[in-house]
Amino acid sequence: MSHIRVRFAPSPTGTLHVGGARTALFNWLYARSQKGVFVLRIEDTDQLRSTEESHQQILRAIRWLGLDYDEGPGVGGEYGPYIQSERKELYDDYAQQMLDRGLAYRCYCTPEELEEMRVKAIAEGRQRICDGRCRDLSDEERAQREAEGRPSVIRVRMPEEGSIKWTDIVHGPMEFEYAVLDDWVAVKSDGFPTYNFACVVDDGLMEISHVLRGDDHISNTPRQIHLFRAFGFKVPRFGHMPMILGPDRQRLSKRHGAASVEEFRDAGYLPEALVNYLALLGWNPGTDQEVFEISQLIKAFSLKRLNNTAAVFDVEKCRYINAEHMKRLTDEQRAALTWPFLVKAGVVEEDDEDAREKLARVVHIMGARLSFLGDAPQRLACYFTDDFPRLDEEEGLLDEEAKLRLRELARRYEKLESLDAASAESVMRGLAEELGVKLGELVHPTRYVLTGQKVGPSLFDAMEVLGKETVVRRLGAV
Ligand code: GLU
Repeated sequence: MSHIRVRFAPSPTGTLHVGGARTALFNWLYARSQKGVFVLRIEDTDQLRSTEESHQQILRAIRWLGLDYDEGPGVGGEYGPYIQSERKELYDDYAQQMLDRGLAYRCYCTPEELEEMRVKAIAEGRQRICDGRCRDLSDEERAQREAEGRPSVIRVRMPEEGSIKWTDIVHGPMEFEYAVLDDWVAVKSDGFPTYNFACVVDDGLMEISHVLRGDDHISNTPRQIHLFRAFGFKVPRFGHMPMILGPDRQRLSKRHGAASVEEFRDAGYLPEALVNYLALLGWNPGTDQEVFEISQLIKAFSLKRLNNTAAVFDVEKCRYINAEHMKRLTDEQRAALTWPFLVKAGVVEEDDEDAREKLARVVHIMGARLSFLGDAPQRLACYFTDDFPRLDEEEGLLDEEAKLRLRELARRYEKLESLDAASAESVMRGLAEELGVKLGELVHPTRYVLTGQKVGPSLFDAMEVLGKETVVRRLGAV
């Protein structure tokens, strides 16, 4: 084992957004590529916004993506517990330590007082809002406020001069003047730690070596580094990844279609395709290769090639990558993955074993043409029900003459004992010859009538799967 220890630390306050998934993925890839340890930590100190449902949903999404973790909820590990609400005693200890060492102080300011300070700071052009009036209260003054039952928070005493610097893995040298860093709240009046405080205690105690996260956290990093040093923890290396944007260059959200991992799953993306695509959003392999197996990603991944500009989510590209991964599946895998989509859309009944068998044959003749599970209900419905959608325009395929031909074809097929691909083809060729028309003049309208689509698998294979009765019925009814 190397000394590389990384973590993904989601707050269970909603669904796992693809931005979060990419953060998880890059940490995971780094751990796997370096033979390091990938930790999952649930940051649920926001009592009001955290929910068990979100916690479970995040775990499900991470599992679906295949990002297994070495330490975390349900897995355990030497540095647990891995859920912040179960670590409160540790935060209490560190908070007390900060108070004892004068690194922090109790602040009794009311919201009104803070608002006054804010207005004053703005008027004076200062970035630090808190004027530190509670910094040096005497024991008596403090006792008096406590006796009055005034609520208090614990603030970290930040230096007023100098700066905090670090070399960001993604953005290079970074520097924040202390003059812009307030005495920040480490423990709220309800006794719960804030994100910045709990995060440092945990990253420090869990011996996290690299923190890779979204660049919305850049402004937290100087506060955190200050505390790492104050506690004598080894400061991890930080890398802040740019946001994922929609085509309008706003942060990717539901407005743009799918934005959470489970929405992508339900839309019909393969996890390995989403992982592949997310890896390319924010990292470049340094070659033209776009389609990666997970094992290839692990091999190729390097922190040196993280991009420092925001990435725009390109649905077309994601669909292309998905299609490439669909090609790599076996027929059995494709059928197994397609089935729940058909059930959910009401195209087949869950317990219909005949339909399940038929799907195996449909998937086989479709091959790589089935490039997106989300399309399966529409594109495959024609094999299971007469009530299937016409996905393409008819565009003159079915004039009176064509209909006459199809009805004649139906009569001839009806006379066959059974219909297989070979007999379907020879009967059609025979009729085309007799009528003196090109085979295509029969193939195209027949395909359209049978499937509602202009493209698809070999027509004769499709007819064999549909079966004589269905073919005769549909062609005879034009
Ligand atoms: N809980 C934080 C978040 O979800 C974690 C940030 C971090 O990785 O430090 O944004």
